[in-house]
Amino acid sequence: MEILKVKNLTKSYGKGEAKVDALKNINLSINKGEFVAIVGPSGSGKSTLLHLIGGVDKPTSGKVFVNDVDIYTLKAKDLSIFRRRNVGLIYQFYNLIPVLSAKENILLPAELDNRKIDKVYLDDLLKTLGLKERKNHLPNELSGGQQQRTSIGRALINRPSIVLADEPTGNLDSKNSKEVLELLKLSVKKYNQTLIMITHDTNIALQADRVITIEDGMIKVDEVI
Ligand code: ADP
Ligand code: ADP
Repeated sequence: MEILKVKNLTKSYGKGEAKVDALKNINLSINKGEFVAIVGPSGSGKSTLLHLIGGVDKPTSGKVFVNDVDIYTLKAKDLSIFRRRNVGLIYQFYNLIPVLSAKENILLPAELDNRKIDKVYLDDLLKTLGLKERKNHLPNELSGGQQQRTSIGRALINRPSIVLADEPTGNLDSKNSKEVLELLKLSVKKYNQTLIMITHDTNIALQADRVITIEDGMIKVDEVI
């Protein structure tokens, strides 16, 4: 079942001499439950594509459909509600709030959405992420891997149908990278989510169901592995 469709998506930054064509007429269809890796050189347009899929930025032209909703026709307020409910974002740097515990950081998006979190789901998420024993610790009392797992929990708390990750293991050593990737794969499988991940790491890309190579704002290769 198709969850995401990108049609003739184009994004340019700046104008005149300074104009950069970051994405050029991208077309893409992604199914529910798929794990897609996005690879390609620095500056090729990967982050721009991820942001447009996540409803974080606005395209210059073209459309993004999530569950058949043409997201950029939504009003700003509806787009931000859509984003909080449907999309979980994970970055290389965790951006945790230093004065809140791991559990409080994870619960933050649910609170912003005035959403009551089912305690069974929260406990299950903490357990899946291996954070049960660390939930009351502050970020500076956690290892890098534990902090990244906390940021994954924060991305998953509203049960998004799509999880978007931009180099989620880019700041971790190989042991923690492996662990975080395994947990991320496990969580998205368990909750039947679609995972789209930018990575420079070939070993990680090879664990995806599908690898899309972006070069110079265009899809160069799109292969099922
Ligand atoms: P990648 O994620 O593959 O490194 P990006 O999507 O970040 O690529 O960038 C694609 C191109 O768009 C690059 O040339 C980059 O410098 C440019 N770019 C990205 N974001 C902006 C922005 N906010 N303003 C101007 N140029 C940008
Ligand atoms: P990546 O790690 O994917 O290469 P970048 O470091 O290129 O990411 O971009 C990080 C952020 O900076 C992104 O949000 C992007 O939109 C913004 N950005 C990238 N290039 C530029 C640019 N030339 N001018 C302004 N913002 C940019």
